[in-house]
Amino acid sequence: MKLLDLHNLSQKRLAALQSAGIHHPEDLLMFFPRRYIDKSNFKPIGFLSETGEPVSVAGKVQSVNVTGYKNKRRLDVIIRDESGSMKAVYFKGWKYFINRFKKGSWVALYGTVKQYGRYMSMAHPEVDEISGPDDVEKFQSLIPIYPSNKHFSKAYITNQLVTDWVQQILSSTTVPEFLPNQILERHKFPIRDKALHYIHQPENINQSDRALERFKYEEFFLFELSMAKIKNIRISRAEGKILKPGELTKNFFNNQLPFKLTEGQKNSLKDIRVDLQSGKQMNRLIQGDVGAGKTVVAIGSMLMAVDNGMQAALMAPTEILAEQHYHTIKEYLEPLGINHRLITGSQSAPLRRDILSDIAGGTCQIAVGTHAIFQDKVEFNRLGLVVIDEQHRFGVKQRNELLLKGNNPHLLVMSATPIPRSLAMTIYSDLDISIIEGLPGGRKPIKTAVRTDKERPGVYNFLEESIKKGDQAYIVYPLIEESEAMDLKDATMGFEKLKRRFPDFRIGLLHGRLKPEEKDGIMKRFSEGEIDILVSTTVIEVGVDVPNASIMIIEHAERFGLSQLHQLRGRIGRGRKQSYCILMPGQKLSKDGRYRLKMMIDTTDGFKIAEADLKLRGPGDFLGTKQSGLPEFKYGDILEDRITLEQAKNDAWQIVRTDNELSKPEHKSLKKVFEPYFKTKAEFFGIG
Ligand code: ADP
Ligand code: MG
Repeated sequence: MKLLDLHNLSQKRLAALQSAGIHHPEDLLMFFPRRYIDKSNFKPIGFLSETGEPVSVAGKVQSVNVTGYKNKRRLDVIIRDESGSMKAVYFKGWKYFINRFKKGSWVALYGTVKQYGRYMSMAHPEVDEISGPDDVEKFQSLIPIYPSNKHFSKAYITNQLVTDWVQQILSSTTVPEFLPNQILERHKFPIRDKALHYIHQPENINQSDRALERFKYEEFFLFELSMAKIKNIRISRAEGKILKPGELTKNFFNNQLPFKLTEGQKNSLKDIRVDLQSGKQMNRLIQGDVGAGKTVVAIGSMLMAVDNGMQAALMAPTEILAEQHYHTIKEYLEPLGINHRLITGSQSAPLRRDILSDIAGGTCQIAVGTHAIFQDKVEFNRLGLVVIDEQHRFGVKQRNELLLKGNNPHLLVMSATPIPRSLAMTIYSDLDISIIEGLPGGRKPIKTAVRTDKERPGVYNFLEESIKKGDQAYIVYPLIEESEAMDLKDATMGFEKLKRRFPDFRIGLLHGRLKPEEKDGIMKRFSEGEIDILVSTTVIEVGVDVPNASIMIIEHAERFGLSQLHQLRGRIGRGRKQSYCILMPGQKLSKDGRYRLKMMIDTTDGFKIAEADLKLRGPGDFLGTKQSGLPEFKYGDILEDRITLEQAKNDAWQIVRTDNELSKPEHKSLKKVFEPYFKTKAEFFGIG
């Protein structure tokens, strides 16, 4: 069967369907109603009352009248059944509705009734023509309401037409099942063909709900099956080199590190150690709130590679962060005689050549950089471990591409996006996960407050006093697009004003348009205490670590997302001093904006903030599904349908464990559906 075999399907309508991604009859079956209406609740007209609930009535048209003047005209229709009569009233579109009512014919109306004068009335009821009182049977099921768009309207694709097409397809095809019987039984899912009937012509809401549950499960299941396969492929490809902590690692932790590790850091390092000695390739995600101390964990892991004569690479999403990691590594590891190099996109050609030859020759033991580190020209001599910091900034594809460098190096990815654990385990299920709970001790919780523009003098006095005492401050301006001159103007103007207000202080300006050397120079001066106030756009958002900075003022705070505010605030509160975060909203505060500021005052817990942000923005936006490479699920919602997702994951992994190739007879149909699905995904995940 083809789409063009459907009744009344013109080329124009075909084009409209295609614009909604419908190319085959099966696609139309997978085009689900967005809601249902229940018109089956019929009442005799004489027994109507004002309940506020919509009801259906059926009656014969008695009279059709247009009343009122000029633009106040309305259509009054009186219908009657054996028990009484009532009125239908249309104020808008009466010219259209007048044609639907012919005196003496039968109609079914659906709407809410109200008493007006003598009559029970329905304002703007939905109307269906029927042949007589017996015809109400056709309302005995729920009526699907399909999504529509302007292409549909232009091609006159009505809800009724879609309904008819779907019926036509359903009655002429039987859709095959592909989920294994065991799964259908375990979850009591209706089989695929039946489920589609339930979706498109349910007898009750319970039926359509059950069917929908199945389709959500189905898409999660295929996704999780891919994740499981990908993980298996990695494991089978990669005998991981066995890396044991040696002299350097021990020396670092015992002698170089100026503080004791937190329990969370110790636990993560233990997980990593086990992975690195397992003989299998490590694929681990370390999650920890901002300031939890992930860098040290990364350094410790890289040392285990170096201890075994291998190279390690650390990749960061911005140059500022890469530079900072480079300096940290220098400070800790130079005394141990470890050769480390920095690669960024902006280095001169001769310098770059020198670095590349160091890496290729193997003299360089630890390479730190932006994504420049994994460009084609960079060849490692014996890369044993790759660490990706702030991994949510990179795509899954990039993540996997790195693994093709060298000989299946171990992979450690780090993220401060504290998504709920169960969710992380399902969407990153190709990774193992360790969570660094808690923050290093001895820190005072950051105090957060909202101040208006009127209160600015007070805020500046406070700033002045603190800086006189030796504190340092960030003042952050929003930058929505790096190229938007407007926002830059905000920061630049703020910078000029501050210079006038605080002529004795050393004030720096940092933004994305500066040359990398300039950015680096400013950051360095700030971290060495040579700048008191750093006026900045959000380029400092990720990872920047200057423990002496204890004040942050965020201008136009309402313009930032919650997680972004949390990331920003994470730049302070890193030392022993009491830190202050002052949120200064602009004039207009939306309801969401107000809520975000309130959340920031109420908690510093990254998980709570993430959860709230997730709710505000929805998972797609929050996780940046496009950039993080997660598929956008059509029916399921990874948050609301967490439980289904979890079940799908468990089932998928169980199948892959026992029948990786899907070669058992009970998986034959699954294999047929899964293979083409996986092919597209595998390319996508960079595992070809
Ligand atoms: P993040 O997890 O956000 O990347 P960092 O690794 O930048 O955090 O660490 C934040 C700050 O805490 C750094 O200044 C670091 O030196 C310090 N730090 C890390 N671990 C500890 C610890 N166990 N005790 C005290 N300070 C620590
Ligand atoms: Mg970090």
